[in-house]
Amino acid sequence: MDLKDKVAVVTGGSRGIGRAICIELGRLGAKVVVNYAGNVAAAQETARLVRETGAPEPVIMGFDVRDAAAVDRAFDEVKKLGLHVLVNNAGISKDGLLLRFKDEDWHQTLATNLFGAFACSRAGAKLMTKQRWGRIINISSVVGESGNAGQVAYAAAKAGMIGMTKTLAKELASRSITVNAVTPGFVETDMTAGLNDAQRKMILEEVPLGVAGSGADVANAVGFLATDRARYITGHVLSVNGGMYI
Ligand code: NAP
Repeated sequence: MDLKDKVAVVTGGSRGIGRAICIELGRLGAKVVVNYAGNVAAAQETARLVRETGAPEPVIMGFDVRDAAAVDRAFDEVKKLGLHVLVNNAGISKDGLLLRFKDEDWHQTLATNLFGAFACSRAGAKLMTKQRWGRIINISSVVGESGNAGQVAYAAAKAGMIGMTKTLAKELASRSITVNAVTPGFVETDMTAGLNDAQRKMILEEVPLGVAGSGADVANAVGFLATDRARYITGHVLSVNGGMYI
């Protein structure tokens, strides 16, 4: 119960990797705030699974990470609980080759993955700074490290998250707030459900371990970074990618 008496906010906690992170942080004893954008039923299912771990009663909070005012209002509510761990996990992927890529898809991808993580970090760090302890964990992607044809906006956003991670690690260290990034490789979730068998096979050929990752694989890394076992690790990018990018 390394996170007993700690409060953890997970953006995009309703589905996929975010749900697995909520469950793992709950298993570690945290009171989990499950954020979602539109899918309240999925957030409720996450909360049910968190409860099953024996964690304190989870809180469900709907807000759009692209909307700074909504983020600030949500963190005003979080303030009443206290905040120790923030996982910036909410993300979308709009894919397409450069020459046909639409401005709107660029803006939406950057707004959700990068601005969302910035807005939540700003609001969350205010609360953590006062208590002089905190963990910010940004869910970036292997694609932010390696690049990927057809993912110009997503790769830029995820690479941006790595730059932001290293900068905030330096800014917030004096308050004992660590800031790290986790870069998952290929994980089977709704985000990757649109891939056909041929695309899936092609991706797995790039994975030395030969299998897709699970949400739990990512959540285990996040859980480690959230606890005091990782107290001397900051500004780090932890790959959870089966060797896809080394
Ligand atoms: P997913 O299954 O599509 O789930 C996305 C989550 O983000 C949902 O909970 C969704 O909420 C939430 N979300 C989307 N837009 C939001 C917004 N504007 N405000 C608040 N929440 C929002 O995705 P996933 O595969 O679990 O991915 C989670 C993270 O891991 C993302 O940052 C993704 O880029 C990263 N990642 C994924 C993979 C992979 O292979 N799957 C690989 C590397 C990195 P609703 O349920 O309400 O829609």
